[in-house]
Amino acid sequence: MTDLRPFIAGLPKAELHVHHVGSASPRIVAELAARHPDSKVPTDPEALVDYFVFTDFAHFIEVYLSVVDLIRTPEDVRLLTYEVARDMARQNIRYAELTVTPYSSTRRGIDEKAFMAAIEDARLAAEKELGVILRWCFDIPGEAGLEAAEETARLAVDLRPEGLVSFGLGGPEIGVPRPQFKPYFDRAIAAGLHSVPHAGETTGPQTVWDALTELRAERIGHGTSSVQDPKLLAHLAEHRIALEVCPTSNIATRAVADIDEHPIKEMVRAGVLVTINSDDPPMFGTDLNTEYEVAARLLGLDERGVAALAKNAVEASFLDPAGKARIAAEIDGYTTEWLAR
Ligand SMILES: [Zn+2]
Repeated sequence: MTDLRPFIAGLPKAELHVHHVGSASPRIVAELAARHPDSKVPTDPEALVDYFVFTDFAHFIEVYLSVVDLIRTPEDVRLLTYEVARDMARQNIRYAELTVTPYSSTRRGIDEKAFMAAIEDARLAAEKELGVILRWCFDIPGEAGLEAAEETARLAVDLRPEGLVSFGLGGPEIGVPRPQFKPYFDRAIAAGLHSVPHAGETTGPQTVWDALTELRAERIGHGTSSVQDPKLLAHLAEHRIALEVCPTSNIATRAVADIDEHPIKEMVRAGVLVTINSDDPPMFGTDLNTEYEVAARLLGLDERGVAALAKNAVEASFLDPAGKARIAAEIDGYTTEWLAR
């Protein structure tokens, strides 16, 4: 079988499911830790690689929160955002919808207007200097309850930064029913934002139905358990509601027991619009290119098949039509040229 890695590495890509703090690579965390010497996070990138090896999910949360604790000032926010875009540019990611949880920052005392200014400043610089177009999804940390939902909706609607395109819901699903968040999604949707909750990652297909009917989801974060319900798969396929699939993340969090049992094949077979994403890449020891390699192997794809997956993400994105057409044409041009070599 041909080694698809060089093709994937150079392929122009769009990413729709990737978290802001969860994208902090050892290099970025080391830089942030050096700014805050009182934190217990190592400042040496090599030591950080070990620091990012998780013993279990609880340990993952602990490490994640220690990184959250390094984001203390608007300058930290700007540095994190711009450096995440730099890591994306290295992978030829042209467009990303970055899931930002502003509640974690404003609750920690970062001024809300300064927070918005920091992400917007990084966004404009990343587009100009790195050629990476960033957009935001503001998500509710579900475990923090309705107070966090209220705050996130207020920040999204009242302070809406220019790059904000969607409204999401993350955190654990077990014990956090989706329907309770309906009023907040209603407000965000009324303000023109798209609905993209996580659903069906660690719970069954009913959670995906709830996301669709109660939160009016236009895409589903993960949606792994959708394959347990043929009616749901048919509904997703018919309405072109994309699933944001993150294969390595599903293994790391044990949402899927074994990579070879990942339900992505069933999703594709049912005609669902499947997109490939990295979720919290450095924390799961992956990046978007690796996720495409995994997907290509699971689906038995060649270069054209991989390029088609990349175009799914462009189609399912909230970029304007001209921007979508430009990236799709870039993918086609690259693929044609590659195959003609
Ligand atoms: Zn996620």
